[in-house]
Amino acid sequence: MDFSKLKGTIYFNGKFLPSKKANIHVLNHSLHFATSVFEGIAVYNEKPFLSDDHFKRLINSAKLMKLRFNKNITDLNKIAKTLIKKNKIKNGYIRPIIFRSENSMSPDTDECTTKFAMATWEWGTLFKKKYISLDVSRWPKLSFKEFPIAAKSSGSYQVSVISRQELNKKKFDDCIMLDLKGNVAESTACNIFWIKKKIIYTPKSHSILDGITRKTIIEIAKKNKIKVIEGDYKVKDLLSSDSVFLTGTAAEIQQVNRIKNTNVGKDSIILKKIISEFKDILKKNFKNLKQISKS
Ligand code: PMP
Repeated sequence: MDFSKLKGTIYFNGKFLPSKKANIHVLNHSLHFATSVFEGIAVYNEKPFLSDDHFKRLINSAKLMKLRFNKNITDLNKIAKTLIKKNKIKNGYIRPIIFRSENSMSPDTDECTTKFAMATWEWGTLFKKKYISLDVSRWPKLSFKEFPIAAKSSGSYQVSVISRQELNKKKFDDCIMLDLKGNVAESTACNIFWIKKKIIYTPKSHSILDGITRKTIIEIAKKNKIKVIEGDYKVKDLLSSDSVFLTGTAAEIQQVNRIKNTNVGKDSIILKKIISEFKDILKKNFKNLKQISKS
């Protein structure tokens, strides 16, 4: 999809503009130095899902990346609602982004002002198949000690982008990113979980984006008295599991059936339970929802 040809309305610096007028200059600071923070919010049945959580993370990301930003969750929800209405979005995605102006071509940002945009478009899920395969990237994810990893910032996506470039797309759909110690962290744009003997495992949060879907999955597990262990694990620990799955706003719950050349377990009872509870949450929030998680 060519997003520069997106039709409809984009919110940009305080105005609802025709999409083609929401432009920035090539000497924009965030374009050169990757100094933006953003979010991805799902829309189901014309309503955003967990938007308060996403906007809270957006505001916190701005704070972590030292971007001055004065909108609150209520302001942001109002803009999102207007955009969904103006663009007649039924099931889609909202992308708010906070970035810097054109007042510096160096890491010094004292003279930069903050810009803000929000766009929305119709979209389904990230992966269009029931099971995906994962390679393992050679590029490590930094931890919070080296970089504010809790921020959903453009800078933190560099390793994801080059990892996907290097992926053999004929053989694999995505890849696992490891932390600096070689432990499993997440995929290029999702959190990762696996199930073994009725226990759910997921990496600790030191080198991952602390996903909102991840939090929902942990809550579902706790509610159903399924044990969740957050720890440091190697790829080999996943290979003998009963199910491996990714989570994310755009991916929802995405099952994995192969890691490198090893087939991994799938459709475990625990995973089926998690998927059905996740669907129930969507159904409860979005009455008459027709198309939900394809898992
Ligand atoms: N990790 C990364 C690197 C991501 O880009 C995403 C998607 N935002 C996630 C995890 C999942 O986060 P969430 O569930 O909040 O969408």
